[in-house]
Amino acid sequence: MPVVGINRHRIVTDGTGVTTLVASHGCPLDCKYCINKEYLKPEMLVACEYMSAEQLYNKLKIDDLYFVATNGGVAFGGGESLLYADFIKEFREICGKRWRIVVETSLNISCENLYKVIPVVDEYSIDIKDINPEIYEAYTGKGNARVIDNLKILIKEKGPENIYIRIPSIKNYNTDRDMAYSVKFLKEMGYSNIETFSYIIK
Ligand code: SF4
Repeated sequence: MPVVGINRHRIVTDGTGVTTLVASHGCPLDCKYCINKEYLKPEMLVACEYMSAEQLYNKLKIDDLYFVATNGGVAFGGGESLLYADFIKEFREICGKRWRIVVETSLNISCENLYKVIPVVDEYSIDIKDINPEIYEAYTGKGNARVIDNLKILIKEKGPENIYIRIPSIKNYNTDRDMAYSVKFLKEMGYSNIETFSYIIK
């Protein structure tokens, strides 16, 4: 997996306990206010460190005691972490059940990839942008049909616990009313951990 960065000793920001954030390269979306745009350019691939799941485990295990003592572990972010579903699955096989695995995702990935990680991921942090397909496409350049399909799969397979959905206020793209509609839509699907926030636009 092409690793853009590793950030150790994060507390509470990525779920419970002490966490190490592992950011991978690549994302299917082109969000207008993406703060990682520079890192995600194809030419930045040369600056990535290509790691196997075992190499990553060997690098992260220095914090094993912290992870186990605090119910923490590893957060896979990006880019889009679930482009690397096989990697995350293999990483779980290597690290065992002692570490908590969190994924940060837009869920705009194939359902095959989602099904691969469902048995191994403890917690999801999902930025759904906006549930309205027109707003979504205007902001990301892609449709959100896969996001909605994957939300249906996730609630069916996992239930609402340990799934945290974030709905941003996106200046010039959605309104408070649009956000309220997204919240309602998700609640009707059965989700309960829903947070609204504002993007920081530079
Ligand atoms: S999903 Fe995240 S990483 Fe991908 S383009 Fe949008 S803001 Fe950037």
